[in-house]
Order: sequence, then structure tokens, then C-alpha cells
Amino acid sequence: MKFTVLTIFPEMIASFREHGIIRRAVEGKKISVAALNLRDFATDRHQVTDDRPYGGGSGMIMKPEPVAGAIRAAAKAMPAARKILLTPRGRVFNQDVARELAACEGLILVCGRYEGVDERICQELIDDDVSIGDYILTGGELAAMVIIEAVARLIPGTLGAADAAENDSFSDGLLEHAHYTRPPVFEGQPVPKVLLSGHHRQIEDWRLESSLMQTLLKRPELLEGRDLNSREREILEKWSTAIRRILEAYSRRK
Ligand code: SAM
Repeated sequence: MKFTVLTIFPEMIASFREHGIIRRAVEGKKISVAALNLRDFATDRHQVTDDRPYGGGSGMIMKPEPVAGAIRAAAKAMPAARKILLTPRGRVFNQDVARELAACEGLILVCGRYEGVDERICQELIDDDVSIGDYILTGGELAAMVIIEAVARLIPGTLGAADAAENDSFSDGLLEHAHYTRPPVFEGQPVPKVLLSGHHRQIEDWRLESSLMQTLLKRPELLEGRDLNSREREILEKWSTAIRRILEAYSRRK
């Protein structure tokens, strides 16, 4: 999978490429991460990429010519790539969108700055608008890196077995179970006994229960929309019975 980021700060992407899983994936040729400097596509000798908004108002707008030039250059090298504008107005990125993008041959990620990009770019040269959440960043570079990292994790061979993606939160619609490592007791808090038992079936069962508990406490709406399997139903019913008993015992005492 090829990622090309269009930005006025290509050095941010160069640094991102140098670390961790992204670096390993680039070195292993599972992905490539390139950046094109929008200033190189400016049409004036001062390499200006922004201008004042028509109609007045504060802030600057990214001029269409450098952005269009960079998109066309990137698309020429990767004709099948999806051209994505990073914008808070886009559809909100999540694991489903990451999966969808991981099936593309390449991604061209256009990073805005200032007040954003001239609207004519959005209409003519962009396939998809993506936001990484309902908040405003100063530029699209961090959003591009978030998307590259989440998508790259899903590309076969990018993660070693030690970092496998299939148990990650959201991979099956639940948050991931709790994790523990050595020491067995930390500041008086022991690791759950079952995890030290070596009993794989019981460990799997504990992990499912932990995953359901994390999801119930932190993102209950994920459970509301879920097609529960029979084991998940059993666990939720067990909790529901336990909670009912506690409440009944409380009412009896009152
Ligand atoms: N004036 C714009 C608005 O209100 O929608 C915000 C512009 S923002 C200061 C500058 C650039 O940062 C945007 O063009 C976009 O590329 C990027 N950006 C900011 N927030 C983002 C988000 N939540 N998701 C993706 N990109 C974002």
C-alpha cells in the first residue's frame, strides 16, 4: 500500500516514517510513505500556498493551484489511489473506515492548513473527505499520520505476531480485554489468577468477559447494537442476575 501525503510540512511525515511499526513496514516494503511539498507546486517565485478569502474575513485559504498540481502529480504516479482531503467536515474516521481504506491500492492524503482549502479542489479532485474527529487541528498532517498508522496496521505482514491486530479494540466490535505483565503483584494489586493458570480455554473465556466489561463500562452503545453470540448472552445474563440479586437484597434490608 502506498501513502502519499501532500503538505507544506513534509518533514513531519519524514520523521513519522522513521519510527516503530511504520519504519519496519517501510523497510519490509509492505508500505511506502512519501510526502510531496505543496510549495513545490506553487505557481509564483515565492512559493506562496495561501491567499486571502474572497468575501473578506479572517484567516487565509490554501490556494487551489499548488494543491491541484500536487494532487495531479501524486495521482499520475498512483492512478488507482484514493484522493482524500483531511477536513473536519469529512466523514468521521473509525476502524470500519480504516478497513475500507486498507483495501485501496494507495491513498493520497491532502493536508489543509489555515482556514482550509479552496472549495474548487474539493469539488473536482477529491474522492473522499475524512475527519479524525469533531475537533479542530491546526493542519491535516496529524490526521494523515493517524490514518496511515491505523490503515498500515491492517495490511498483512505489517505487524509482527507480537503486535497482531485481530484482538485490538474494535476489530470485532468490542473494546479489547485488560492486559497484565510482570510483576505478578504490583503495589498490592495481583494479576487475575486465571492468567497465570496456563489454562487456555479459561483464559480465552476470561478475556471475553473482560472485553465485554470494558465495553459495557466505557462504550455501552457498542453492545446495544451488537449481535450477541450465545456465550456473550450468557455472560451478560450472569451479570444481570448478579445485579438483580444485589438490588433485591438491598430492598429487603430497607
Ligand atoms: N476552518 C476549518 C473548519 O472550521 O472546518 C478548519 C481548518 S483547520 C484550522 C486547518 C486544516 O487542518 C484543515 O484544512 C484540515 O486539513 C486539518 N484538520 C483540522 N481538524 C481536522 C480534523 N478533525 N480531521 C481532519 N483534518 C483536520
